[in-house]
Amino acid sequence: MRLLIVEDEEKAAQFLKKGLSEAGFAVDVVHDGEEGGVAAQMNRYDLLIVDVNLPGRSGIQVIEGLRAQGNSTPVIVLTARDSVEDRVSGIDAGANVYLVKPFSFSEVLAYVRQMTSRVEREVKPVHQLVIGGLEIDFSRQKARRGKKSLDLTAKEFSILSLFARRRGQVLQRAVIAEEVWGINYDPGTNVIDVHIRRLRSKIDDDFENKLIWTVRGSGYVLEDRSQEGKDE
Ligand code: CA
Repeated sequence: MRLLIVEDEEKAAQFLKKGLSEAGFAVDVVHDGEEGGVAAQMNRYDLLIVDVNLPGRSGIQVIEGLRAQGNSTPVIVLTARDSVEDRVSGIDAGANVYLVKPFSFSEVLAYVRQMTSRVEREVKPVHQLVIGGLEIDFSRQKARRGKKSLDLTAKEFSILSLFARRRGQVLQRAVIAEEVWGINYDPGTNVIDVHIRRLRSKIDDDFENKLIWTVRGSGYVLEDRSQEGKDE
């Protein structure tokens, strides 16, 4: 976890840096708004801690600039001012948390921990997916259908994961090749078809409700068609 502190008061910056480093975070410090905006855009931070009154650009302008460039890194805003206008403009600019000075370090740490663990949760993919009695466990790379655990090769599991994540969408062979084999390797149509035939046999052969379908002239799709028309 890497944090950026943008704070012009040297003492306050060092106080935060020391405490957060001791708590296990990698911490960078810059002292002016201009530098802060550049550093936040150049590096991949998990969280920004930004003071409002800064030389160069204000903390609010820094956040506005980042949000305008599509940067959605969570931000804690620090300020000595406790006016309603400041809070509102900070929130408008895309600040996630507003802390008024003087704050206690434990308060900052609590927010930092909360916000960085939220980041971690957001980037984690879905762990399990069930479709038509087929259970896919992404973290353990295992799949089962009904009571039967499926013996899949690594490639077959990769193809199944791709199908599952984009279930209901027709995937062209070129897309499957790129996602499973990588952009620099062309496995050839025949190889893809062979892998899918084997995967399909393992998933569908013993079941009446088929899940992997060929879309003629286009590609393949994973979907549970037994549910079609049953919604209304
Ligand atoms: Ca300041």
